[in-house]
Amino acid sequence: MPHYKETKKVKTGNLVMTEKILLRLDKDQMRIPGDVRREAARCWNAIVNLHRTIYNRYGIWLSGGQLKEFFKGHFRLHSQSVQALVELYEETCRRTKDLRKDGETSWRYPWRKKYYFTVTWKKTAISFKDNRICLSNGRGREPLEFKLPARIDPAAIRQAQLVWKGACYWLHLSIEKPLPEQVTGCKAAGADPGEVHSLALTDGNECLVISGRLLRSWWRLQNKELGKYQRKLSRLKKGSRRWRRLTRKKRKFLEQMRRRKEHLLHTVTSQATGWCFERGVKTLYVGNPLDVTKKDHGYRHNQRMHQWTFGQMFNLLKYKLPARGIEMVLVGEENTSSTCPSCGTKGTLRGRVFHCPNCSFSCHRDVVGSLNIRSVGIHGEIRAGQEAVLRTTYLRPAVHTTQAVDAFGPGHRAA
Ligand SMILES: [Zn+2]
Repeated sequence: MPHYKETKKVKTGNLVMTEKILLRLDKDQMRIPGDVRREAARCWNAIVNLHRTIYNRYGIWLSGGQLKEFFKGHFRLHSQSVQALVELYEETCRRTKDLRKDGETSWRYPWRKKYYFTVTWKKTAISFKDNRICLSNGRGREPLEFKLPARIDPAAIRQAQLVWKGACYWLHLSIEKPLPEQVTGCKAAGADPGEVHSLALTDGNECLVISGRLLRSWWRLQNKELGKYQRKLSRLKKGSRRWRRLTRKKRKFLEQMRRRKEHLLHTVTSQATGWCFERGVKTLYVGNPLDVTKKDHGYRHNQRMHQWTFGQMFNLLKYKLPARGIEMVLVGEENTSSTCPSCGTKGTLRGRVFHCPNCSFSCHRDVVGSLNIRSVGIHGEIRAGQEAVLRTTYLRPAVHTTQAVDAFGPGHRAA
């Protein structure tokens, strides 16, 4: 399953996406990535130090070009990897400058000493040998070699990065892809994110409800297991051999759970995007539940609310929808699940089903929520007299296989 970090449109009209690949390395293979990342940290520290010193002593702000020229050939890295570090430094400085100009004085220019750093390989440093990607570290030095999954087209790779996250090495590949087929309709739909149901979508006629039970059960599993670990750890002496071993195990478990949950969110958001695309939805109004999570409802409820990964889901929707030409708009969620979409009476909720106290309308509460969010999005308020939903489909998040990878849901096949 590809995990895309972000997308970017480039001049050719294509999309550039980041695909993250987990590297399973044995002890022997771990050596070079560690060395390269340490060398990159050494380079980064040198850039930061030189730039600071020259500025402090002589008041000269060195340009990226000057830095590149100065550090050429000084590090055991590919020359373009060094250039990429300089470019990153420039970019960070530029952003810091902008932020400080806006009054964010707590932001500092890069200063911290790094011990490891992410290495970037540009296109010229990447080569391929029968299904393996080869990342050059400059002439005469040992390159890095990894097997590539068959689904990745080597010609589409523009950049590679070696990242350490969650006690594992990851290869982040920037891949250029043609823009997926764009949506042609002009409908508006509403989406109600929730905890029991990850997402309920409606375009006024049809409704799609994607279950969130699996996600919830994984959170429960995680909480339970974490408790076990904590209890065991509290009995051990901190820093002892057994304590260290158990801490490692705990971290590994947490990382595994994080990956699982992320994967599930990818499938949920892909299904939602595909659904919108097939129905010609041009604008999707998404209920913003952040106000709801602020209220205090007692320990258990609060824990569940904080673990409800709306922010993550939102980040995925934020790029998956626009990639298919669908606009996403956030809408306040107040009263949307407790107001009757048929007559506009505000009712009280008990359980998962909404019954109107005034008319005979009764419907699943998340469907009511998405209907009203749609109404708020279109009219700016909850309007009565909305059409009844004809058909509701319930879906479980379907897990993608590597063969049928489809980041944008059904209806799209990458060329
Ligand atoms: Zn009613």
